[in-house]
Amino acid sequence: MKTVTIVGAGLVGALLATLLAQRGIAVTAIERRPDPRKAGFLGGRSINLALAERGWHGLRVAGLQQRMQPLAVMMRGRMVHAIDGATNLQRYGRDDSEVIWSVNRGALNMLLLDAAEAAGARLQFDRRLERVDWQGPTLHLVGEDGARETHAAGLVIGADGAGSALRAAMTGIVDLGERFEPLGHGYKELEIPALPTFPRDALPAALREAAARGDLHAIEPHALHIWPRGGYMCIALPNAEGSFTVTLFLPNDGSPSFADTVSGADARALFERDFRDASALIPDLENDYSANPTGLLGTLHLDRWHLDHRAVLVGDAAHAIVPFHGQGMNAGFEDAVELADLLADGAGASLDVAAVFAEFERRRKPNADAIAAMALENYIEMRDRVDDPDFLLMRELDRLLAARHPERWMPRYAMVTFTRMPYATARARGEAQAALLRAAVAGKSHVDEVDHAALDAEVLRRIGRLDDAG
Ligand SMILES: Cc1cc2nc3c(=O)[nH]c(=O)nc-3n(C[C@H](O)[C@H](O)[C@H](O)COP(=O)(O)OP(=O)(O)OC[C@H]3O[C@@H](n4cnc5c(N)ncnc54)[C@H](O)[C@@H]3O)c2cc1C
Repeated sequence: MKTVTIVGAGLVGALLATLLAQRGIAVTAIERRPDPRKAGFLGGRSINLALAERGWHGLRVAGLQQRMQPLAVMMRGRMVHAIDGATNLQRYGRDDSEVIWSVNRGALNMLLLDAAEAAGARLQFDRRLERVDWQGPTLHLVGEDGARETHAAGLVIGADGAGSALRAAMTGIVDLGERFEPLGHGYKELEIPALPTFPRDALPAALREAAARGDLHAIEPHALHIWPRGGYMCIALPNAEGSFTVTLFLPNDGSPSFADTVSGADARALFERDFRDASALIPDLENDYSANPTGLLGTLHLDRWHLDHRAVLVGDAAHAIVPFHGQGMNAGFEDAVELADLLADGAGASLDVAAVFAEFERRRKPNADAIAAMALENYIEMRDRVDDPDFLLMRELDRLLAARHPERWMPRYAMVTFTRMPYATARARGEAQAALLRAAVAGKSHVDEVDHAALDAEVLRRIGRLDDAG
């Protein structure tokens, strides 16, 4: 088989390089940034991420779960912060076997780079793909200092993220049907410091005892915190050393928005009004708000992911999505496992690479489309519905049905997060379940008012068994 060149050694590119090298395939990964293990990690966005079952599976296949586990912080559920400061933990699953994990992007990326190298992959840093000469193909690369070089590639895999240069080069000779759907909302990252490093003069009185006790975290560490406020929200994910990365999601226009929240003082005023309990925990809010970039959000739709036998896209380069299901990296890790398996299965000299790329796209694209849609739906749920009585009633019934019909019923969030059921199946099953839930709670204010016998019969009639769901 020809050698493989992966453009981009971020999360997905580094995992794929590891998996291919572990299968004896000669692989080179070319990365625009300097080696983070030497230069420090230049993140740029989302300092930490939620890792769920699909992501863990990718790490397990690469033999890395044991090394990542100690670095991950368990999140049992959503801690919803009401405007009056009251909090309520909504568990994600039945128990601690159904949780998600907060991991540091830099630490995970570095672990994956180490693993790729240990498996025999060649990693080349500080080289940005500029263009591709498809005869060959030959990759034209530029270093940070402007130095140019060429790289003769066998088959090329684009793992270079949402703004993929490889995708742009493919578009030059084939119509990928590219369409970017902006969300109209952006994000800004802020920080709740670890208690040991919290500026003493800013430490709220309520936390003094915890700090003196040696606690690390200012708020519950084992939860994903949400401050839902209708059209906008804040979230916070814990870091192992005690800090939280806070992400403020706001519309680009209107009020409040990034258009009218311009200065650090504007941001403080917004927090004092709408996120008062969080405001007290973010001493550097004004500086961070001014200094940190405002991130753009949107969904990338492509009709095709590959160019005959020459190139294929994976991860965000193929299907960047909005982050509200915490599944972008998880989905990208599924891509990596699927593509590595397909390439390794037929890795003889006669491998029909075009057929492998087409099969990869056939298997993965419907699932990428499904998680893209569910991620958008989850934004509405997180910012607008988690504190809504109808939603809470549907959620209670959802759980009740999961307990009564464990062989058929699973909340959609659980199918997406705690299983590896294809996303498209999870979405279809979720829609069928939601239709039953909506009908059952219509006009009701308490779960006891629901006609359970009739609902049970509907479940048996309309919802197939989970063990048939793949
Ligand atoms: C705010 C936010 C929160 C998120 N939270 C979660 C979460 O909780 N859980 C989750 O699963 N996902 C989450 N995601 C999504 C996740 O970040 C992405 O899905 C994931 O990073 C995709 O990995 P990737 O390797 O495909 O792309 P990237 O991580 O973007 O990596 C691309 C790599 O390619 C390199 N590169 C780019 N251009 C070139 C070039 N021309 N030449 C060479 N190299 C190049 C880049 O330097 C980078 O290293 C979140 C995203 C955002 C924005």
